[in-house]
Amino acid sequence: MTLTLHDTLHREKRVFVPRDPERVTLYVCGPTVWDFAHIGNARPPVVFDVLVRLLRREYGADSVVYARNVTDVDDKINAKAAKEGTPIGEVTARFEAAYLADMARLNVSPPDIAPHVTDHMDAIVAQIAAILEQGCAYAAEGHVLFDVSSYENYGRLSGRNLDDMIAGARVEVAPYKKNPHDFVLWKPSKEGEPGWPSPWGVGRPGWHIECSAMIEETLGLPIDIHGGGIDLVFPHHENEIAQGVCAHGHAHEADAHAEYSRYWMHNGFLTMDAEKMSKSVGNVLLLHDLVQAIPGEVVRWALLSAHYRQPLDWNQALLDQSRKNLDRLYGALADVDRLAVQAGTTLPSPRSHIVDGHLKTSGFLGAIEDDLNTPGAIAALFALSNGIRAALMGEVDWQIVSDTRAALQASANLLGVLQVDHAMWFDAGVDDSFKAEVEALLAERVTARTAKDWPEADRIRDRLNALNVVVMDSPAGATWRLKG
Ligand code: AMP
Ligand code: ZN
Repeated sequence: MTLTLHDTLHREKRVFVPRDPERVTLYVCGPTVWDFAHIGNARPPVVFDVLVRLLRREYGADSVVYARNVTDVDDKINAKAAKEGTPIGEVTARFEAAYLADMARLNVSPPDIAPHVTDHMDAIVAQIAAILEQGCAYAAEGHVLFDVSSYENYGRLSGRNLDDMIAGARVEVAPYKKNPHDFVLWKPSKEGEPGWPSPWGVGRPGWHIECSAMIEETLGLPIDIHGGGIDLVFPHHENEIAQGVCAHGHAHEADAHAEYSRYWMHNGFLTMDAEKMSKSVGNVLLLHDLVQAIPGEVVRWALLSAHYRQPLDWNQALLDQSRKNLDRLYGALADVDRLAVQAGTTLPSPRSHIVDGHLKTSGFLGAIEDDLNTPGAIAALFALSNGIRAALMGEVDWQIVSDTRAALQASANLLGVLQVDHAMWFDAGVDDSFKAEVEALLAERVTARTAKDWPEADRIRDRLNALNVVVMDSPAGATWRLKG
């Protein structure tokens, strides 16, 4: 396969070549566990979950190491704990557990490594000491600051020029900073705040150093791919590169950034009804609430419906359409089983070389390998489900049905959708007696239609409507689900 990825640093799509195909490394900036994640926060873990699935297919499940950190040291966490009167560890444990449960509902597989800042304090202190030793940082008034003027390529990732930044600087200049853009590696903790011992006094790390130190300790440098949302390009990732490069004495080498991460990927932002999501506008939708109300696969589908670098507008129409699309695909899988039962046949095993061929000819692999073109991959899922429906017409060749069905399932597995049994999908939230009532009405409807008794068929349709049931007809019969 030829996987191409858009690299933020090179500003173009590049063929992906890992440093070591037996150990492909990927790091994505994870949540700060002070509150529930909003729906925008769910976009990076879902997008990079698709990438990880694809990498595991290509390089082998055991040859990919995926790290997504947990930021459990942060001023917002301290403020929340103080407000609630609960210990900090209780706050972080609660929101991390909620995050993981919500991710599971989105079919996001857990990362191989989930480093916590509180577990890597020694590595963080060691990296700060190394940066100081290289002359790229200075200690002042209990703080350690990174000296941005010491790194020649500062601004390269974000396309900013330090001179322009300084000229337009509006940042508040703390008295201990040499340059307004110097950023904190370590800061002192006040009485009552969490703190760790260090050569510069009791304190805590800045946000950027956490990631660069945990990357070095858990994955080793350089990593293959670093990912996150587009808002992290500056300053977070720019600063990570500066730290990772300068800790190892590469401050003056033109291409030293490649010693930190070889590819940089960033997802576009999610908006709500065309507006930026923000607490002040009051349009923040919590993932935690959403996945209680609708199936996680609908949310995942909606997140993957646009290309990851494009903005994505979140609205009810998107969710309705996502649900309809999933119904259509699950409906094709249901048709196969129902018709096979009717025909009294057991599906033959799919032939793997034919299935692989379908993954190519449907356009699925070509799309997903082209910088994760998920809209193209979704179109291929429909091509495959249409193929299943066509194969079920007339004289059925069950081998062809089985191969096409397996290709649809394999493609869906890479996107992380169609992960439940179709019967469960359509029955979700329905008890047995309700199910029996609907099935009985559907059977009466078939009888009425066969007898061309249209007033009776209409009456049954109205009753199903009143029960909040949507019926989907196909040549293989009808499937149904609850509205909403
Ligand atoms: P934060 O908790 O703000 O650090 O964000 C966690 C992750 O979510 C980061 O990778 C952000 O870039 C990403 N993110 C935050 N808001 C949005 C949004 N509205 N759309 C897409 N990604 C977002
Ligand atoms: Zn980070």
